Amino acid sequence: MRTAAIARYSPDATPCRIDLSDNTNAWGMPPAARAAITSMELSARYPSAYSDELKTAISAYVGLPIDSIATGCGSDDVLDAAIRAFGRPGDRLVYPAPTFVMIPAFASLNGLVPEPTPLDRLATSGARVIYLCSPNNPTGQLVIRSDIEAVLRQATSEQVVIVDEAYAEFAGESVVDLVAHHAQLVVTRTMSKAFGLAGLRVGYVLASPERIAAIETSRGPYMVSAVAEQAAVAALTIGRDWMRSRVALAIESRERLVVELRQRGLEPLDSAANFVFVPIPNALAVAAEMASSGVRVRAFGDPAGLRITVAPWPILQDALRALDEARRCA
Ligand code: PMP
Repeated sequence: MRTAAIARYSPDATPCRIDLSDNTNAWGMPPAARAAITSMELSARYPSAYSDELKTAISAYVGLPIDSIATGCGSDDVLDAAIRAFGRPGDRLVYPAPTFVMIPAFASLNGLVPEPTPLDRLATSGARVIYLCSPNNPTGQLVIRSDIEAVLRQATSEQVVIVDEAYAEFAGESVVDLVAHHAQLVVTRTMSKAFGLAGLRVGYVLASPERIAAIETSRGPYMVSAVAEQAAVAALTIGRDWMRSRVALAIESRERLVVELRQRGLEPLDSAANFVFVPIPNALAVAAEMASSGVRVRAFGDPAGLRITVAPWPILQDALRALDEARRCA
């Protein structure tokens, strides 16, 4: 069976005092979204098949027409659907490593062959699907716009270029404006990070109307629940100022964290997201030690390092104390 070799995603879910492992919004969710849920009238009917109201709110937020938007159950769902819509079993999916861990899994699930490939060889690799994550998870680094434009220029009409902008709000940069000019471009976004709605599972994808139609028909309707839709609409409309102010706080915390890490002789990578990747040779042991003092961060073995989600400063101070202690012990 094709899926037998694909591991079930199993994040550490044991309760801990401070969880800085999943890049969600440590400032919570927008009060407007919470209010929308608690005041909504629930019914026994299905939501709209393809989230028309949500698409209208996204359209006003990103400045693209409704027929350039598809929504889904988190951006996981729209990434999976896009790979299925444009890749055929046996095709290759290329990406610069390291990147979002689910990408090789979504490729394999859809019968594609995932292949780590350097940025400058993505388009010329001839692979059907090209994936770029900007800012990239887990490194936090932005893929510069001219590099994305170069990939788009080189890509043939047989190829599709997926740019994952899950963390775009923290970067203040986006290639969404290129969607209208490049038929190969597919941009995915999420409400899970800057907008604080990870638990409600809402994501969206922006592309040409032809590509959007292909994505929507690559899987079934009703991918966004009525509750999630109402919360996301509220977040995107009345909650936008809340989001911007929390993004500003996250960036402030991130910069303080980077300074503190450097003072310890560490060399965190430049981040444009709401997390920082800090190379540490014995990262797995350090993270295990931090977890024993109640602070969860995400450890990576290759390249070795810790990915630390930013949070209000007192929480990060606590995490830094746990890191110091762990480095002494690990
Ligand atoms: N893309 C990237 C780069 C991510 O880091 C994540 C979440 N970790 C996702 C997509 C998926 O997020 P969601 O399904 O919550 O939208």
